[in-house]
Amino acid sequence: MISHFSDPALRSRFQDLAATTVAKRAEACTEDHRLDIDSWQELSEAGIWKLPVSKDLGGSGGTWWDFVAAFEGIASGGRDLGFCLSMVAQAGLIRSISTYGTREQQHYWIPRLINGEVGATALTETTGGSDVTRIKTAATATGEGTYRLTGHKDHITNGPAADVALILGRVPETGQRDITLFLVDLHDAGVTRGAPEDMMGNRTSPTGPITLDDVRVEARNILGDIGGGVDLIYDTIALDRLLYGVLAASYLDPTLEEILAYSQQRQAFRVPIAEHQYVQGRITDAKFALESTRWVSYGALDALMHARPDASLMCSVAKYHAGETLKLGTETALRVYGHIGYMEGPHTKALKDALGAVIAGGTAEMQRKNVFNQMRALHSAA
Ligand SMILES: Cc1cc2nc3c(=O)[nH]c(=O)nc-3n(C[C@H](O)[C@H](O)[C@H](O)COP(=O)(O)OP(=O)(O)OC[C@H]3O[C@@H](n4cnc5c(N)ncnc54)[C@H](O)[C@@H]3O)c2cc1C
Repeated sequence: MISHFSDPALRSRFQDLAATTVAKRAEACTEDHRLDIDSWQELSEAGIWKLPVSKDLGGSGGTWWDFVAAFEGIASGGRDLGFCLSMVAQAGLIRSISTYGTREQQHYWIPRLINGEVGATALTETTGGSDVTRIKTAATATGEGTYRLTGHKDHITNGPAADVALILGRVPETGQRDITLFLVDLHDAGVTRGAPEDMMGNRTSPTGPITLDDVRVEARNILGDIGGGVDLIYDTIALDRLLYGVLAASYLDPTLEEILAYSQQRQAFRVPIAEHQYVQGRITDAKFALESTRWVSYGALDALMHARPDASLMCSVAKYHAGETLKLGTETALRVYGHIGYMEGPHTKALKDALGAVIAGGTAEMQRKNVFNQMRALHSAA
């Protein structure tokens, strides 16, 4: 058994819970193309979202390490990548508000999010997701401390099911540096949540558009400074990036166990296929990738929690490896199972889900770009 940095008791508690909730309902929710809201509620009641939140906001006063332990349990016990992608989005939103929100914002939004409401972070628009500076969503000041927000967001995790969203928009009247973050209640007048998009995988993570038509947002629901949205969002989604790495490793732990067991009982050339070195090589390559991803993600969390200068770089390294490792691990399962792996079923589903992780949360190319830019910045600061 591999040792982890995070609390094993928390991990196994949530692993058991996810095995009797998320794992049981994943197939039906995939078919119905919806978030498993029953499991979401049960995990919320079990205190998953409270773990990293301070007691004065209704949390249990732990740290993000505690959340990571529980999340690892859900990833390995629930065996549903889509559900976990929805959790990553929620975790990122909770961290944004906990870290950058005013006391008023924290007291208003956090209790909602830790007690069962679903959150989303909406950057991407039809114009693209990599270059967020091209967004068109804009807010017009109407006086009396309010704005009217209009725009259209695409491909938003939890978009069709969310109650609350952090929306990246512009405040054009402030000039060039105008990108700003708005906290929006998605039940407000003028908000339309579209139907889930027909993606090739992750169908339990409803991903879709959010349209804002002249939505009233009070100035007190601006997160951070007007014009400070780009810097803040990059820092904010740093947690999401490393959580992809945590997810990749924990989701693949049981996959590798299964592959190993199968390779020891499946025979070819009069011996178990596990005896063939090329098969061993595939399994060990997946293990190398999985452990590297796990430990670089822990390193990234440590850097983020200590606000180290290399935190953003480390989170991008974790995110990059997450996508590639998920792809490799699920493809390895498909290969080792041979034709059985290629039949439509759990292995093809896992591979299709895994491919989403090379795009969601920033593409592999954008992680490379961030890593290189951060290396250059750290080098010139040295
Ligand atoms: C499952 C899933 C969930 C998602 N959830 C959310 C969400 O919750 N919120 C949200 O806002 N968005 C979400 N997205 C959207 C996602 O963030 C974007 O799809 C992603 O950022 C890429 O944007 P794009 O699809 O517009 O591709 P583009 O930005 O058009 O890029 C197309 C290609 O060009 C490459 N490219 C672009 N610029 C560069 C560059 N400078 N250097 C090198 N290569 C470059 C990209 O890597 C990509 O391969 C989600 C996507 C998926 C698949």
